[in-house]
Amino acid sequence: MEYGPAPEDDKPARAWIDQRGGKFVSFINGKFVTPGDKPTWFPAENPATGEKLGQVYQSTQKDVDAAVKAARAAQENWAALPGFERAKYLYAITRLMQKHARLFAVLETLDNGKPIRESRDIDVPAATAHFHHHAGWAQIMDDEFDGYEPYGVAGQIIPWNFPLLMLAWKVAPALATGNTVVLKPAEQTNLTAQLFAEICVEAGLPKGVFNLVTGDGKVGAMIVAHDGIDKLAFTGSTDIGRLIRKESAGSGKALTLELGGKSPYIVFDDADIDSAVEGLVDAIWFNQGEVCCAGSRLLVQESIYDSFVEKLKRRMQNLRVGNPMDKCVDLGAVVDKTQLDRITKLVDKAVKDGAEIYQIKDACPTKGCFYPPTILTNVEPSDEIAQIEVFGPVLSVISFRNQQDAVAIANNTRFGLAATVWTENINMALEMAPAIKAGVVWINSSNRFYAGCGFGGYRESGYGREGGKEGLYAYLKPSYLSTLSEASPRKRGSTAAKK
Ligand code: NAD
Repeated sequence: MEYGPAPEDDKPARAWIDQRGGKFVSFINGKFVTPGDKPTWFPAENPATGEKLGQVYQSTQKDVDAAVKAARAAQENWAALPGFERAKYLYAITRLMQKHARLFAVLETLDNGKPIRESRDIDVPAATAHFHHHAGWAQIMDDEFDGYEPYGVAGQIIPWNFPLLMLAWKVAPALATGNTVVLKPAEQTNLTAQLFAEICVEAGLPKGVFNLVTGDGKVGAMIVAHDGIDKLAFTGSTDIGRLIRKESAGSGKALTLELGGKSPYIVFDDADIDSAVEGLVDAIWFNQGEVCCAGSRLLVQESIYDSFVEKLKRRMQNLRVGNPMDKCVDLGAVVDKTQLDRITKLVDKAVKDGAEIYQIKDACPTKGCFYPPTILTNVEPSDEIAQIEVFGPVLSVISFRNQQDAVAIANNTRFGLAATVWTENINMALEMAPAIKAGVVWINSSNRFYAGCGFGGYRESGYGREGGKEGLYAYLKPSYLSTLSEASPRKRGSTAAKK
């Protein structure tokens, strides 16, 4: 289904793919690798059309070893640079990301299925801002973090929902603090990470400081198990996060986990209702709901329940689902068939369990991995659909009586990533914020991210923070720990970041 003006021109992105022969491989020690004998490849697909964009190399243990070795060899010199020297590289990366912003956005949309409007106006600018922000930190690092030093080699594993932005959240603080990186993108979304590797070459980043290994979860597991990794950072599902925690326990590796969520979006009866409806469109339908902090549980005060749900349904009718390269589209495709099936099954099961479903008939194109915006009512707080992360455009609606009730339902979850409170009563809002067990609580807004603010969760949403000063501490350890580890058989990291 097509709406509005012609889709954005994707010719330069196609040319970029062709130039690489449609092959996406690991980037180790400053070079894209040539796969050895009988390499395994898997397809890179456009989920909106099913079109094959190219093929991705499944890295081997040898590749992971080579990437870790390169990162290790580069780390001491990288950490020994004064912070302002590292900052120069981060500023150069920032400028090159700005220069190639359009190519990044189109590649992201082709690869992930998200609307071009979002990749162009949100993902790419936010990723660029993250590097810019961390260049600033690198510049003042030696004074601000005196007595701290980098862990050494950071192994970073990222998901498919914000491929470039998650790369930025991981790579920028690691490089600013003097760590070197072995990064694994999700198997579904490799294109923008490949372009980023090219930019590292263009920026003159020393070889081995940034390494990329392509492949599926098995390659992720190799990074987790690798003896040459000092720090692990993971974003993805709670199940894999739990596994990584188990696997790395007792290994001495530092670990941060950014996992799932089931964030409450709480609307009190005194709220500015039109704004709350608009905020909810962003909270649950931005990025097809494939957002770890999506406001997927609407808690609405019972006195306005009917009118609010009615308004929301009317607003939902105006959402356009379709070709994500079309600038007028609000929801694109979900990332792949597996995710589409997962969403479909969870919603079907909820309906079987008694939920009432509201979807617009024929909202989606008939081909491609599309799922329509969905509202589920008649849902109890303890129902599976209100407890499990769907990671799709699916909203569960629950009513509450009063403030106490709202807090109890909001906290009735194993997650604790984010929450939103809508009310004109600022005193109540300020009481609600600390009462809700969530890493971030937005008041009269949602999905606000700033490079200068720490983001992360409680409980099964993981631990550690990304962004802000606290995000930098996740890549640093007190220097005295190195003195202690001198006595241990294998010295980890480097002590070279001192002034
Ligand atoms: P996933 O957790 O399996 O994948 C995330 C990353 O981890 C990918 O790079 C993957 O290759 C890697 N990985 C997989 N197995 C691994 C292992 N054993 N060791 C190390 N790395 C491993 O997520 P998924 O299967 O792509 O999605 C499933 C569900 O996870 C989604 O439906 C959603 O609920 C959730 N999810 C959450 C986020 C988030 O941002 N919190 C992101 C993506 C998916």
